[in-house]
Amino acid sequence: MYYDKVESLERDEIDALQADRLRKVVETAMASPFYKKKYAEADIDPASIKTVDDVRRLPFTTKNDLRNNYPDGFLTRPVEDFVRLHVSSGTTGTPTAVYYTQSDLDKWADLMARSMYCCGVRKSDVLQNMSGYGLFTGGLGIHYGSERLGCLTIPAGAGNTKRQIKLIRDFNVSVMHIIPSFALYFAQKVRDEGFEPKTMPWRIALIGAEPHTEDTRKRIEELMNIKAFNSYGMTEMNGPGVAFECEHQNGMHIWEDSYLPEIINPQTGEHVKEGEIGELVMTTLTREGMPLIRYRTRDLTRFIPGKCACGRVHRRMDRIAGRADDMLIIKGVNIYPMQIEKILMAMPEVGQNYLIELIREKFIDQIRVKVEIKDEFFVEDMRVLQSLQKRIAAKLRDEILVTPRVELVMHNSIPKSEGKAQRVVDLRDVEG
Ligand code: AMP
Ligand code: ZN
Repeated sequence: MYYDKVESLERDEIDALQADRLRKVVETAMASPFYKKKYAEADIDPASIKTVDDVRRLPFTTKNDLRNNYPDGFLTRPVEDFVRLHVSSGTTGTPTAVYYTQSDLDKWADLMARSMYCCGVRKSDVLQNMSGYGLFTGGLGIHYGSERLGCLTIPAGAGNTKRQIKLIRDFNVSVMHIIPSFALYFAQKVRDEGFEPKTMPWRIALIGAEPHTEDTRKRIEELMNIKAFNSYGMTEMNGPGVAFECEHQNGMHIWEDSYLPEIINPQTGEHVKEGEIGELVMTTLTREGMPLIRYRTRDLTRFIPGKCACGRVHRRMDRIAGRADDMLIIKGVNIYPMQIEKILMAMPEVGQNYLIELIREKFIDQIRVKVEIKDEFFVEDMRVLQSLQKRIAAKLRDEILVTPRVELVMHNSIPKSEGKAQRVVDLRDVEG
């Protein structure tokens, strides 16, 4: 039933394992210039770590710490001991680098294999990896995990829809790894090319790397006639394979033997109550070359209380509600792009893509949402379109408390990037 015996540990066993590994990783980390200095200043003694709760006494590590100590201030060994390097996509600011030893890579591949097995991928599957290779961890991360599990693995990379379809048909691809915004686009393209999703060999899509809503998942599942599982990770924590949905699709199990997750109030740094939303903070428990302790991910989520029907005790996190740095402030109101996606993807008239533009009207910041409309709803009667436009604006206002400008555009008219979607563009100084 499980890929790995760690998956059947009980809560007290996980707690004990985490406490033990936390003490060891703090010891290991002190070999790096960054933690050596930081822990000397904070007077941290690894031997004093006895329980998981002792993590709260350790200082946080931030993205700025990574940037300020770029490129190698976090390494616990000489560079010659490392065999791989990835760089975070850095949609916000300077990129950060993560180095891996061979043992770190092996452990990562095991976690990836476990993650895929957990949602139903088996050795007999053929997996097509449709995310970009190169510095993005979704390429090689998924790739080595898939090989570790024993799947025939096709490193298709991103883009080139026609070739993707041909590979899927020629080689009986049963599992795809695909970014959700691209999956929506791709599903439409497959239909436009004249293929009926029911006749395609696929059965599972691993979707992740960017925020998306439950309705987006449902759309992908319906459009493609597939089961789609949420996959969460980030370069700083290796890449994908940090948390993954099981077959119950009810939150992502965080692999707690390898990561120690916490959820804090981003303002106070204190733990939130069980089940409340806050910022996810992660500690690598087994990484030897570049451990990160209490790393503030800036991703907002919550722990899902209770036990999962699959029997795994590894705590589940909810889908990402947004990133602390994604927040828009319009007319004094805080808005997350995912609130907008939530409304749009629940409306049957809305097509597969949208774009949020920040504009300035008479010196006041305003939001404009470009919304693709499905062909069958893109009628010539202006009155019908205007009423749809008003309806979308009203629904958005109810959610975000600001009335946005809404512009209806034709299906496939918003440019689609091959990697993670850029949902927000700032035109305030262009059009202002
Ligand atoms: P990168 O390290 O550049 O791949 O970016 C990692 C970031 O992507 C995370 O911190 C999240 O903000 C986002 N991300 C990754 N996986 C997911 C997911 N399943 N749902 C929402 N956001 C995700
Ligand atoms: Zn489960």
